[in-house]
Amino acid sequence: MPPEPANVVPAVKSKPESAPATPPRPDTETVLKKVDWSDFRDHLATADKDGRRMWLYPRKPRGPLYNLRTWVNFVLLAIMFAGPFIRIHGNPLLMINIVDRRFVILGQTFWPQDLPIFAIAMLIFLTGIVIFTAAFGRLWCGWTCPQTVLMEGVFRKLEYWIEGDSHQQRALSRAPWTASKILKRGGKHALFLALSFLIGNTLLAYIIGTEELFRIITDPPSQHIRGLGFMILFTLVFYGIFARFREQACTFICPYGRFQSTLLDENSIVVAYDHKRGEKRGALRRKDQPDARKASGLGDCVDCRQCVNVCPTGIDIRDGTQMECVNCTACIDACNNVMDRIGRPRGLIRYASLNGIERGEPLRITPRLAGYAAVLLALISLFLYLLFTRTDVQTTLLRAPGALFQQMPNGRISNLYTLKLVNKTRRDIPITLRLQNSPGEIRVMGRQNIVVPAERLFETSALIELDPADLAGGNRPLTIGVYSGDNLIESLDTIFVGPRRPKPNPAP
Ligand code: SF4
Ligand code: SF4
Repeated sequence: MPPEPANVVPAVKSKPESAPATPPRPDTETVLKKVDWSDFRDHLATADKDGRRMWLYPRKPRGPLYNLRTWVNFVLLAIMFAGPFIRIHGNPLLMINIVDRRFVILGQTFWPQDLPIFAIAMLIFLTGIVIFTAAFGRLWCGWTCPQTVLMEGVFRKLEYWIEGDSHQQRALSRAPWTASKILKRGGKHALFLALSFLIGNTLLAYIIGTEELFRIITDPPSQHIRGLGFMILFTLVFYGIFARFREQACTFICPYGRFQSTLLDENSIVVAYDHKRGEKRGALRRKDQPDARKASGLGDCVDCRQCVNVCPTGIDIRDGTQMECVNCTACIDACNNVMDRIGRPRGLIRYASLNGIERGEPLRITPRLAGYAAVLLALISLFLYLLFTRTDVQTTLLRAPGALFQQMPNGRISNLYTLKLVNKTRRDIPITLRLQNSPGEIRVMGRQNIVVPAERLFETSALIELDPADLAGGNRPLTIGVYSGDNLIESLDTIFVGPRRPKPNPAP
């Protein structure tokens, strides 16, 4: 019996009349026929027809933008690795200590009590990125995002150094496992793992601080099981991202990459192919003169695919702006090199907006951009106001849960409070509490003077005693001044609870 042709759907066996009719499952071939593989929008650039990932071997870019990016990467990497060690007034440049809920930004310590300031700082950061994206596309992704900086600026460069350019990497991948291949691949992955360990530790230093990190490294491992666990976890995650996951992190995981398409419009400056100049594309023949080429309807694009070969996300920028494009500019350099060689002006692929290419319009401030800028300005103003009106000590005074009032042996009425003081400065601050709107006494439990240690939370109980004669009708609102020496730091309002009909003071 002759074999069935591959594209024939196998016959579905007939079922008994009583069985419910189940539509036959379409086979893979039938489903795939619905995908238009000639349309880039219909499929991912890094997946084949069976949905398997296609490993990318981007060619090493060469050109002025690549050189500039190397320098920018170098500066950013230096800041990133030195960040936890850089001190401003003794504090690190940046520390996001989620465990202790303590955050340091540019040397300024923020506590959970400063959450509004911290939240507004985050909103400023996000709005800044929104404005930047609306105006300049994904410049952040290609030039400053830690994922791209580390992937293209460190791991990819190491790969070129060890395995060579793209054609050599492809050849090595196809080659049998000889001693040379084992050495190259083993060496590369050992280096990747070591680098991932360094990056993981740097991230940990941004979370727990360098002192704690060194304690984890130098103390016996049994004393820091949790810290060591995070160290190993971060190392493996970074190794997985940079050795295997790579551009897929930008395509599938990064939320910014997902919503950037909603921020761009026809006025946004992006890495763009000048289709008016480049089309109709066609191979360059030696005998072709530029004028003859133009007369035959051909544009400047010689269809050499150099721009595709260097792309670290595997896309063809000639198809237009795509979600995978991280604006790394590698294709600009590649195309400029081709234009130089064929004697055509540079800039067939360049930073430009759609309106710039189609109508020759320069970048202009659109109402949308102006709106974003106004929001950003308002947020920055609010942030500065909150920052400069922030007190050195933040106090919380709450009535002790479950306690009402007590009549003291001296006849006074007392209320018990929980007192919490956060010292946001780097010096110890002596504190006194004074009643501002009533005679009476405040006694802090267990000590004469309160000294709040630098950058610490101080928690104690306080007893407020009032004369019954000052309590007209039960509860009384109190204002308490928090002083450092004679400086009033802040005033707190609370309620003092007393009996409705206070007993008179006993006769002396
Ligand atoms: S299309 Fe160009 S700018 Fe975009 S990711 Fe690819 S090489 Fe980079
Ligand atoms: S590098 Fe330039 S000339 Fe070559 S295919 Fe890309 S756009 Fe066309």
